[in-house]
Amino acid sequence: MRLTEAEHFRQIDQPVYREEIAPYLPERILDAHVHLVRRSDYLPGIDPRKLKTTAPEPVAVDFTPRHLDATMRRLFPRQRWEAFVFHAPYTVIDIERANSWIASLGRRHPHLHPLMIVRPDMRAKELDAAVEAGGFVGFKPYLSFARPHKGETRIGDFLTADHLKVAVARGLAVILHIPRKQRAADPANIRDVARICERWPTLKLVIAHCGRSYGPYYIEQAIGTWKGFPNLCFDVSAVDDPETIEVVLEHAGHRRLIYGSDMPVTLLRGRHLCVNRHCFFLTEKPCPNSVSPPRGAEFPMTFMAYETVRAVLRACRKRGLPREALDDIFHRNAANLVGCRRGVSAPR
Ligand SMILES: [Zn+2]
Repeated sequence: MRLTEAEHFRQIDQPVYREEIAPYLPERILDAHVHLVRRSDYLPGIDPRKLKTTAPEPVAVDFTPRHLDATMRRLFPRQRWEAFVFHAPYTVIDIERANSWIASLGRRHPHLHPLMIVRPDMRAKELDAAVEAGGFVGFKPYLSFARPHKGETRIGDFLTADHLKVAVARGLAVILHIPRKQRAADPANIRDVARICERWPTLKLVIAHCGRSYGPYYIEQAIGTWKGFPNLCFDVSAVDDPETIEVVLEHAGHRRLIYGSDMPVTLLRGRHLCVNRHCFFLTEKPCPNSVSPPRGAEFPMTFMAYETVRAVLRACRKRGLPREALDDIFHRNAANLVGCRRGVSAPR
């Protein structure tokens, strides 16, 4: 018999928090990768449930500060928290409208640090004015906006010199979700990131999802090159493999690892699996692009967001890192990126 949501939460999820997370997770956290979504920002006639993304359902409905707050109280009841927030970066969203909503949230909620979704057609002057007006602390470029291109997308197709110029001049963080099938193992990606870091040595570049490395193989190919750039950081959002996180810790150090959740997507219960250099989603309930247990099989999973925290804690334990390293990973590294200019947690 299937568990109800309340039973599942009490019997499966809460013990994970109580036994594996709460005793170790710092009391103060900064989640550096949260999508806030307003359903009404989708362009007219668009059904977001049909988006060609890994898990369309979580971004097809509203996920507002109110939902985020309720989620954080439910999943991390002992933590005070802040978050880097940005809308869902899709071409079927009215980006100007979405960005101005995110900016307004940043003004109203001091614990929400707004990031602007940027398209390659946005020029430096216009970006600069938007950052000034919106109080953005960073940019979120995304491959769905890439200029049409023969062959696989390159980073330069959606992250432009204009973006980087403004980011450097204003000290903004850039959260980069890298393209291409081979992820962090792709030689073009490895080179493109290295060239950006060489050309813009003071740029605060954050490689999202550890380079979409949901298993160690991908990041292992890149880290030898990328570790040489001290301003290059890695967010662990949606990464739930401890070995992958250990690779970053070993080569780049804990000051360059940043906690992020990728909510609301990671409120799905499941995990990433990497099998023979293929990554996929394992989810408790069937999703359009995931694998899930056969019908009738009882296989209770927990939130992917919990799996990420679990993996970070396990990787830190295996590397023998002190408690202070956890404060860095779960809060200070991200706070330093935005100059700690506000440093306010959500009211309890
Ligand atoms: Zn994301």
